[in-house]
Amino acid sequence: MMTCELCGKLYISKSLKRETNVNFRKCDECYYAAKAQNSLASANRKAQTEFMRIENRIEKLEKKNQMLETIIESMVNDRVNTYIQAILKSAIKKETDDRMQVLQAQIIAVNNKVVEIMGFELPKGGE
Ligand SMILES: [Zn+2]
Repeated sequence: MMTCELCGKLYISKSLKRETNVNFRKCDECYYAAKAQNSLASANRKAQTEFMRIENRIEKLEKKNQMLETIIESMVNDRVNTYIQAILKSAIKKETDDRMQVLQAQIIAVNNKVVEIMGFELPKGGE
């Protein structure tokens, strides 16, 4: 018979190995209670670690998401800028073409007037 050092009960040891391994002599009840508590604590630690791991992953994903948002935003901005520039360019080109046509018509009209008054055409450049 042995005395449990935790609860003071007398008990019969079932495992000699167990007696030499533990710091305190424990009866079956105390032994399994302590074991259950240990495995509960280790399960808690594992859950805590897993929880922290998941939290880190979420944080990383959030950072990635923010980066993606910034990238997409700047990509959209680039596209919009390119689009606006293209529209502006074609608008300016159209405006210039219109002005050129008006100018050319004016030159032809002036030329015709000169021909009418002078009776001959002005020499063209390069001739
Ligand atoms: Zn005990």
